[in-house]
Amino acid sequence: MRNLRRLSGRPGIAVGLILLLGAGLLAVAAWRPPREYASEQFLMDTLVRIEAYGRDEAQLRAAVTAAFAEMRRVADLADNFAAPGSPACAASDVCRINQAAGREPVRVQPETLEMLALARRYGELSGGAFDVTVGPLVELWGFGRRESRSAPPAPAELAAALALVDYRELLVDATAGTVLLRRPGMRLDLGAVAKGYAAERAQRVLQQHGIAQALIDAGGNIRVLGENRRGRPWQIGVKDPRGEGRVIAVLPLVDAAAVTSGDYYRYVEIGGRRYHHLLDPKTGYPAAANLSLTVVAADAGLADVLSTTLFVLPPEQALALAARAGVEALLVSADRRILHTPGLDGQIEVRAGTEYRHDPRR
Ligand code: AMP
Ligand code: MG
Repeated sequence: MRNLRRLSGRPGIAVGLILLLGAGLLAVAAWRPPREYASEQFLMDTLVRIEAYGRDEAQLRAAVTAAFAEMRRVADLADNFAAPGSPACAASDVCRINQAAGREPVRVQPETLEMLALARRYGELSGGAFDVTVGPLVELWGFGRRESRSAPPAPAELAAALALVDYRELLVDATAGTVLLRRPGMRLDLGAVAKGYAAERAQRVLQQHGIAQALIDAGGNIRVLGENRRGRPWQIGVKDPRGEGRVIAVLPLVDAAAVTSGDYYRYVEIGGRRYHHLLDPKTGYPAAANLSLTVVAADAGLADVLSTTLFVLPPEQALALAARAGVEALLVSADRRILHTPGLDGQIEVRAGTEYRHDPRR
């Protein structure tokens, strides 16, 4: 009471104090971390998670919903497991291209042309280690099929499938917007590009909705927008390819993508042995040089195509191509070395443990 009386005797000071207090409260309110809105959907054979941060719940919800719709659109275009003649096949550029193989060019969406351009570029740069027409091999090994084979493919089967794998026989007319697989039986497979490309497009949609901080996780394809909730770089863990839940490296990421191809993501079991899904188009067998390969790049589509490409190559060639492509890469080789491009020196925290040898200076 005494204080109040004293203040009321000096209205100027009272108002000043109240204003100060008000400004202080506002400042405290501004320091609150932004709220999170997160959602998950099953897309492209994987659980996709989007987290977005901001002040306005309705805006966050609308942004994430629109981002998922965009991802689903890309996923549908690239769906290569749709049954021929089904509505899903009619909506899938890849399915329609495969149906028309050896017959006629198919009109496709601009997004499909963009994915095919990425595939073509890295098919060429890797001398065919990346091959977007790998479909017959994927089919032969039984990926995407419910029942597994009783034995690995016989040499004659492998040779027949390999004869249908050649990205140079994929004819793209960018002006007409059409695509043709030259020979019957050829099959396109965008499995190595679509998740990253879709994540990149989703990121753009979030941005268009005014979101400045977000993380998209599409089964080993991470795309972050801005910094994390606390205004720091996101910390992305790279999984130990042989250790359940263990992390072998931590990458700081701002406005960029980190995409991992690993031999532990998808595999078929044949005669008690595991055969993973990253196939070497030279041998027809799963590529054997690496256990996991992570690419860090500004664009998630680029990171995705390159993670698969580099996985198939021997470690030293993989790092050389990463440098040529202007991206960073970190790999775990089959002989248990952890290697990375020099650009990651001092940026990442490597936890090699006793299982792996960290060779920062090859
Ligand atoms: P990712 O997880 O992005 O490395 O993509 C793996 C998927 O790409 C596989 O499941 C196949 O559908 C496809 N794929 C496998 N091997 C190759 C290859 N050598 N070139 C292009 N795509 C491939
Ligand atoms: Mg990939």
